[in-house]
Amino acid sequence: MMIPSYDPNDTEAGLQLLEDLTTNADAIQQQVLHQILSQNSETEYLRSFLDGESCNIQENFKNKAPVVNYEDIKPFIQRISDGDSSDILSAQPITELLTSSGTSGGKPKLMPSTAEELDRKTFFYNMLVPVMNKFVNGLDEGKGMYLLFIKPEIKTPSGLKARPVLTSYYKSEQFKNRPFNKYNVITSPNDAILCEDSQQSMYCQLLCGLVQRSHVLRLGAIFASAFLRAVKFLENHFTELCADIRTGTVASWITDSGCRDSALSILNGPNQELADEIEALFNAKSREGILKRIWPKTKYIEVIVTGSMAQYIPTLEFYSGGLPLVSVMYASSECFFGLNINPLCKPSNVSYTLLPNMAYFEFLPVDDKSHEETQLESRSTDDVSLTDKDRIVDLVSVEIGRYYELIITTFAGLYRYRVGDILKVTGFHNKAPQFSFVERRNVVLSIDTDKTSEEDLMKAVTQAKLNHLQGLLLTEYTSYADTSSIPGHYVLFWELKPRYDNDPPKLDKKMMEDCCSEVEDCLDYVYRRCRNKDRSIGALEIRVVSLGTFDALMDFSISQGSSVNQYKTPRCVKSGGALQILDSRVIGRFFTKRVPQWEPLGLDS
Ligand code: AMP
Repeated sequence: MMIPSYDPNDTEAGLQLLEDLTTNADAIQQQVLHQILSQNSETEYLRSFLDGESCNIQENFKNKAPVVNYEDIKPFIQRISDGDSSDILSAQPITELLTSSGTSGGKPKLMPSTAEELDRKTFFYNMLVPVMNKFVNGLDEGKGMYLLFIKPEIKTPSGLKARPVLTSYYKSEQFKNRPFNKYNVITSPNDAILCEDSQQSMYCQLLCGLVQRSHVLRLGAIFASAFLRAVKFLENHFTELCADIRTGTVASWITDSGCRDSALSILNGPNQELADEIEALFNAKSREGILKRIWPKTKYIEVIVTGSMAQYIPTLEFYSGGLPLVSVMYASSECFFGLNINPLCKPSNVSYTLLPNMAYFEFLPVDDKSHEETQLESRSTDDVSLTDKDRIVDLVSVEIGRYYELIITTFAGLYRYRVGDILKVTGFHNKAPQFSFVERRNVVLSIDTDKTSEEDLMKAVTQAKLNHLQGLLLTEYTSYADTSSIPGHYVLFWELKPRYDNDPPKLDKKMMEDCCSEVEDCLDYVYRRCRNKDRSIGALEIRVVSLGTFDALMDFSISQGSSVNQYKTPRCVKSGGALQILDSRVIGRFFTKRVPQWEPLGLDS
């Protein structure tokens, strides 16, 4: 009942279903909660809160079940991972644990999942089809070049698989045997997607995408960072790829037989003309707009460019020649949440409509500025007190313009779980609210009493870049709170690329110092007070790193267990390996030359 079936090729039926789901959001949410609770009321976890006698299980749950962080449920997940029966959390057997990009104690968090969840995800993906078809005509006349990757999975002591959510999905029967529909026709063969060696997989997927270039109508990957990594790979390997197209063979380092055979069958013999055409495009003077030239029928690029991915928009625009960037979905290892039902909108206007049948959603109001709970008493933001629990609202009761932290109760064993994302309500579609993704909870940088969020940092960096950076593209950045000297100071690592070539950037001292100052001027009141009045923070520093540094950082992360699909550049690094990688590649250091402006507000605490 909660996973409606319909034909994704029937755009009208799909759009009607979306109308029905959003119009009945409230009733559906109540049904979802009722189903989850009645199904799981005998689990050890719920039994400890829901003591039998109450007649209304939903009210009982809301009064008694705590709002939890991962650390609170970790012991249960650990027990399941070690071999305890999964019915301590979920009546439906937990069939796998999904490794999140969020970590706990340095290791990925593990999210429970069930067989039914794969159907729920399939339903979710199918809902994208009518939405895209509504806005873009003729998608059935060609293919998508989607770069999709898997990662090796591990077995827990109990024998359960632990793997990233997309690995689980791409390996599922639901994906492999996906029925033909307009959205499912992609250039990458399953066997290339399912190759665990990401380099071989990338090479073959790009090769297949190039060979079928005249059919490609859309390009994509999950996150913008992964897509740009593919573009970089393409730039580095085009000669080899063209040589393969020319001769109809596959490079000898592609040893995975699935990859090799599937690519060979798509190559289907030598094609001198195509190889020459593609090579000429790469040998042209500028790479600006190269994607549009290689795949001339492309209508849009489907990559997530919201949240921390927004910083890639300029680079994507550079390579794509201004094709629409489409962020279609908001999803996580815990649950797939919502769709962007206005997919051709500008990246800055993207909102996601949560689908009310995916999970039971609740919202903890947070402060507009600090994104911490608007609270009555001072205490750790990691605990949700009973008073705050009263202020948690249902999906349909959120208010436009307000910020909330998302709390979910899933069909697979998470109850009132804090996802850690901060969302802002931008509007409603029927009764279902729409949210822009603001950031992941918590602050990225702090030296003194200052608290700089990812969003604050991104705004300041964007401002500095726009106002001062000339002839250079900021392709990647991260930050570090350097407290090795007193006072500590913010360090930004910037990877800069000349707009029109790949030479090392020429760094103008004055320009870079202006960037440092602009960042500081844009940071918040408390930061500037610390710098200007308290002098508790030292001059902000920009360390420019050589081209390719952030690729090395990603490789490092992947070697430590991150997945290629889910990898997101951390907006802040702590000490350790990541910092070493950055610091060993510094090609220029610049500091602010003046303290930022700061005026006391009436009552300064
Ligand atoms: P993971 O659990 O590793 O799959 O990561 C899920 C997290 O990625 C979410 O909780 C968000 O913080 C982030 N994320 C997923 N989709 C989006 C999106 N469309 N825009 C911004 N951030 C997203």
